[in-house]
Amino acid sequence: MSSPRRIGVTGAAGFIGSTLVDRLLGEGREVVGLDNFDSFYSEAHKRRNLESASKNTSFHLEEGDIRDPAAVERFHSVRGELDAVVHLAALAGVRPSLERPAAYADVNVNGTAVMLEAAASHGGPRFVFASSSSVYGERSDGAFRETDRVDLPISPYAATKKAGELLCHTFHHAHGLDTTCVRFFTAYGPRQRPDLAIRKFAELILRGEPVPVLGDGSAVRDFTFVDDVVDGLVRAIDTPLGYAILNFGAGRPVTVLEFSRLLEKTLGLEAEYDFQARQTGDVSRTLADIGAAREAIGYSPQVDFEEGIRRFVSWLKEQA
Ligand code: NAD
Repeated sequence: MSSPRRIGVTGAAGFIGSTLVDRLLGEGREVVGLDNFDSFYSEAHKRRNLESASKNTSFHLEEGDIRDPAAVERFHSVRGELDAVVHLAALAGVRPSLERPAAYADVNVNGTAVMLEAAASHGGPRFVFASSSSVYGERSDGAFRETDRVDLPISPYAATKKAGELLCHTFHHAHGLDTTCVRFFTAYGPRQRPDLAIRKFAELILRGEPVPVLGDGSAVRDFTFVDDVVDGLVRAIDTPLGYAILNFGAGRPVTVLEFSRLLEKTLGLEAEYDFQARQTGDVSRTLADIGAAREAIGYSPQVDFEEGIRRFVSWLKEQA
């Protein structure tokens, strides 16, 4: 089987999930989504994300929880056996995980175990797991490589993502599941989650309200345009690798103040900044070495940061 046709996507109503769903449907594949419209952010926002997909007869949405084996069973069988599962559903976000560590562990670890168990009992569709750059913890230099040591997470969220990778390996070993764990590096673009900095900053600048910057604004993120992330996911679906971990970043460091200045320029507005203390759990820098992903699946981010911000801003303005 070279190119899976029927793909299951958990977290299908979310930022990355809905963008992936649209891309797969555009390629003529069949997609079954699973999402419980978790209250982390507005249900209306997520329903809007699926507006176009829900008009497509090749799309079916199963509303349910990844921790509920009955819902997961329906997800696997409602349209016939799935060829691949992309498991994106999770409680996302570093800072809120410090407030609700047990809830994060329940959804992100227990939920992932339920998903893997169902995949194994359904004959082992390819399994792609959404991990995160946060597993690398606090690092002062160099680009992050998949072979680096990642056993010192500094947030419950990061710990749950590392645990998910370990479960994937276990199921690969015990059941021969093809599992690829992809570590996303701060995805941004249309439909971006409202809690993420670029979206939050842009909305505050548009409203003329002060922008809270944690620390002195020198924190660095390797922002990755959502279409590039989704392109990588499609390549991961299409390329069996046994067990693999791959970085999905852009390989380009941008500081908080740099992206905020670019937002000001693109929006044609000036921001007022409110510098605040850095928060526990936030790492000071992320930067991906994407050589392994390029080599393994031909991952190759195309959208430069200025262009990505332009596309994001034009989407945001359409939402007003
Ligand atoms: P998102 O919050 O927009 O999407 C997650 C979706 O999962 C939501 O639609 C939510 O309703 C659903 N969900 C949550 N709990 C669920 C449950 N128990 N059962 C069923 N559905 C549930 O987040 P996103 O930014 O699209 O992230 C997708 C994945 O990528 C997550 O696993 C996240 O941890 C990971 N990730 C994202 C980023 C990023 O920059 N966006 C970075 C690193 C990792």
